Amino acid sequence: MDHFLYRDGRLFAEDVALDTIAAEIGTPFYCYSAATLTRHFGLFDEALEGLDHLVCFAMKSLSNVAVLKLLGDLGAGVDVVSGGEYARARAAGIPGERIVFSGVGKTRDEMAQALEGGLRQFNVESEPELLVLDAVARSMGRRAPITLRVNPDVDAQTHEKIATGRKEDKFGVPLARARDIYAQAAILEGIEVVGIDVHIGSQLTSLAPFEAAYGKIARLTEELRADGHDIRRLDLGGGLGIPYIRDNEMPPLPSDYGAMVHRTLGHLGCEIEIEPGRLISGNAGVLVSRVLYVKEGEDRTFLILDAGMNDLARPAMYGAWHDVVPLVEPAAGTPRRPVDIVGPVCESGDTFARARDMPPLAAGDLVAFRSAGAYGAVMSSEYNSRPLVPEVLVRGDHSAVIRARPTFDDMIKRDIVPSWL
Ligand SMILES: *Cc1c(COP(=O)(O)O)cnc(C)c1O
Repeated sequence: MDHFLYRDGRLFAEDVALDTIAAEIGTPFYCYSAATLTRHFGLFDEALEGLDHLVCFAMKSLSNVAVLKLLGDLGAGVDVVSGGEYARARAAGIPGERIVFSGVGKTRDEMAQALEGGLRQFNVESEPELLVLDAVARSMGRRAPITLRVNPDVDAQTHEKIATGRKEDKFGVPLARARDIYAQAAILEGIEVVGIDVHIGSQLTSLAPFEAAYGKIARLTEELRADGHDIRRLDLGGGLGIPYIRDNEMPPLPSDYGAMVHRTLGHLGCEIEIEPGRLISGNAGVLVSRVLYVKEGEDRTFLILDAGMNDLARPAMYGAWHDVVPLVEPAAGTPRRPVDIVGPVCESGDTFARARDMPPLAAGDLVAFRSAGAYGAVMSSEYNSRPLVPEVLVRGDHSAVIRARPTFDDMIKRDIVPSWL
């Protein structure tokens, strides 16, 4: 559940009517609910109760510093995938010991930055990366705590672009190579092996692929321990899906996921880390947009919005579905008709939905894209020189702009015209 509900016919974020925010700051904008973020983090935390654990929010899904501070204050760690994300996590006050560094392409600078600032562990994704990290750590007189990300070769049965745990995917090292690489890591002076990492993909709607992967991790843990490695931490990645309100698809609940983790890995006595992104942030955010025009085409009707693919890329990028609802609740029984919901960007790909059944809407009306908290604002760009979409956080009856819409001047002054032109 989330905290975006109609009250007396108006869509609210907690105790704030979304149309009042639109009147103050204009559209489009993202709006997040603190209560929803808090609730979703709590569900994971509770699901792992009884195990020594840390929930590391995958901040690539939503990286605003205010959101990170909210989650950090609840005790969350974060999973970062770049130096920029690491800097944001620190700016939000998240201590180094709660920061996990993932990603297939960490640079030397990023490694040094995190070693200097402090971190929980690097999730290493290849042998060459292991050797570079060893060199960087030794040059600083440090030992880098690591897990090795293994690729368990299970098909997460999700969208092609977000499956990461098959052998043809670029992530991790093959399970069959893991023991060799751990043996190599054990003799590197700049490396301290602390555990194993796995992340098989995103938007999973069944527990079966997780369970298959975690079973393999349990066996690997025992093998590596028999080889003499101190495997004390298991990072299980993220990837639990959320309902995007289509086809009544109901992904498993965090509590079911937690029970499965207890069942498959609980006996090993390891510290458990998980890295949920979308399930914490996805349904905690909406994108609010205004209808600019209703254009009657020859055989279809286009609803042209002031939000575009630069503001919310998921439909163009993954063919993703987002429920779109009017800010004014339609009366029960209002007839719907199919419309194409599109943005103003000069690309045919700037289409949010085709033949979507919608209640009647006119120019000037407001709509909200639901489930837009994850991979929404973070993927936005200024394509077509459209200013970056602002973000608002609501908690109870408080609301605050947590990233302002840049002015045209802000945008333009980042460009530099060389003196020789
Ligand atoms: C993207 C990612 C996550 C989060 O995935 P969600 O589907 O948002 O839960 C976690 N860990 C790693 C390594 C990732 O790349």
